[in-house]
Amino acid sequence: MTFKILPDTSPAMLPELKQRGAIAGKVYPKNVTTNADDGVEDFFALSPVFHAMEELGIALCFHGEMPGKHIEGMNREREFLRTLRFVAKTFPKLRIVMEHITTAAAVDAVLDLPDTVAATITVHHLMLTHDDVGADRMQPHHFCKPVAQWKADRDVLIQAAISGCPKFFFGSDSAPHLKEKKECSDCCAGVFTAPVALPLLAAIFDTFYALDRLQKFVYDSAKAFYRIDEFWTLPAGLQQPKMQLSKEPWTVPTEINGVVPFMAGETLDWSAKQF
Ligand SMILES: [Zn+2]
Repeated sequence: MTFKILPDTSPAMLPELKQRGAIAGKVYPKNVTTNADDGVEDFFALSPVFHAMEELGIALCFHGEMPGKHIEGMNREREFLRTLRFVAKTFPKLRIVMEHITTAAAVDAVLDLPDTVAATITVHHLMLTHDDVGADRMQPHHFCKPVAQWKADRDVLIQAAISGCPKFFFGSDSAPHLKEKKECSDCCAGVFTAPVALPLLAAIFDTFYALDRLQKFVYDSAKAFYRIDEFWTLPAGLQQPKMQLSKEPWTVPTEINGVVPFMAGETLDWSAKQF
């Protein structure tokens, strides 16, 4: 279980959240993405909360973009990295995850910081660049926050994902916005990748001869970083779902319950089945 950290979250709330199974809390900077109207502007005002999370062993997840009208959209993640460094240095035992990173600069920052700092990478950020969002015509189903960056950034993200380094693991950030909320003049940020994420990851890892590191990226590294075995047990009677990936082509539906999935209508080389 995770919870959202708001500007008025207090350290006193945390022990109960921990007792109810919270393993991580996420900070959204104000107004940078969907559901961030109540987000945070002054990260350092949350220092007492971060300190309590450090003491309780609750991980801190950042939507790592600097808020504020004076910062250009493409630079919000780079501008946030200094905050990441400050928080990591100030709270050396706090486990921190930079979610859905998009830049080579974020990969470098995470590599430079101690093992308490990790990052998630989405499948769409391993595939898209800024040109795919709007070089010629606007592609609303490719628009997400943080927005996809340059090809050089995308290539560094791929290196980080396939490296086997336990600091980088998969986070889908899948966002199923209704078609009319995407195909309009006020398009919501978010890409609906849940139905296609695993087949696409398999194809990417296959291309780079890294299939042997796919399970680590998708599952093992995150499980270890969040210390799932220590903090969480599968409720009695439930079985851990398992996915089987195979090199069998399938065509992605053009719409699923009113939502257009990523790669809609495209034929993918890999399929995923639950068993
Ligand atoms: Zn986010």
